[in-house]
Amino acid sequence: MNQVVATFYKFVKLPDFAEKKELLLSYCQQQGIKGTILLAEEGINGTIAGSRLAIDATLAFLRADPHLADLEAKESYTTAPPFERLKVRLKKEIVSLGVSEADPTQQVGTYVSPQEWNDLIDDPEVVVVDTRNDYEVKIGTFKRAKNPQTESFREFPDYVQNHLDPTQHQKVALFCTGGIRCEKATSYLLSQGFEEVYHLKGGILKYLETIPAAESLWEGECFVFDERVAVQQGLAEGTYQQCLSCGHPISEADQASPKYEEGISCPDCFDSLTPEKKARQEERQRQRRRGSGGAGEQGSGGAGEQGSRGAGEQGSGGAGEQGR
Ligand SMILES: [Zn+2]
Repeated sequence: MNQVVATFYKFVKLPDFAEKKELLLSYCQQQGIKGTILLAEEGINGTIAGSRLAIDATLAFLRADPHLADLEAKESYTTAPPFERLKVRLKKEIVSLGVSEADPTQQVGTYVSPQEWNDLIDDPEVVVVDTRNDYEVKIGTFKRAKNPQTESFREFPDYVQNHLDPTQHQKVALFCTGGIRCEKATSYLLSQGFEEVYHLKGGILKYLETIPAAESLWEGECFVFDERVAVQQGLAEGTYQQCLSCGHPISEADQASPKYEEGISCPDCFDSLTPEKKARQEERQRQRRRGSGGAGEQGSGGAGEQGSRGAGEQGSGGAGEQGR
């Protein structure tokens, strides 16, 4: 049976977010919805899967709240249910940056459409910064973009403090996978005195979908938080596999490395592999070989950037906060 996967987020003050949890949970249960929804005072972020009818009903249920009346959802389709469970979680943030000055419900940067983006990042006066994590940037990014080399989005404010200066860097352009991290990051930069702050509307995914390859300033592939691992121009499926231990993308060359062992380690996580962790991964790998599940939810990701899933939350290391 066809499953619809809907991803959505919105930064909006939800003073009653905690009270919404039980009602939303029981509504989704009635509809047979699986996936994860995060609720915080700053908004909502989710990736859910279900039948066409169930997804439509659930989105209508969410939009019945006037704060969420214009909630937009992106959809994709799959034959196998991508999530095993339903979680509705109360969080401090819908994407974790960890600094209270960043408040996208108060202010965000200027949105730039994919069509206008090339002119912006071609301007030598504009500092272009990739807000994603190092393991995402390393398989693809925009021409000229700086890599802050962060391991998690929570390190981004430190990068800004140490490498960007509002008196020197007057124009800053930020981008991320689907736009959610940027909304938060531009809000943070504005709070720190940067005056002209731009972000790519719809994120890298919208850019790859709409800009023809011949005009594209994107180089490489874009890491995504689902079973595709990475996508290319036109959103064609990419060429990377995923390390089942840390969640990072691995190339064919990585798989030839002595540090790679299927389900146990890759060149990125080999050096942090403790004997305890190794034993745990070996047990998981045995379960996967027996086909007794467990692996399903790990690999099949979802709304990472949104913070709602991603390797981090499954306890398998990696980046929890990223997402779209
Ligand atoms: Zn790894």
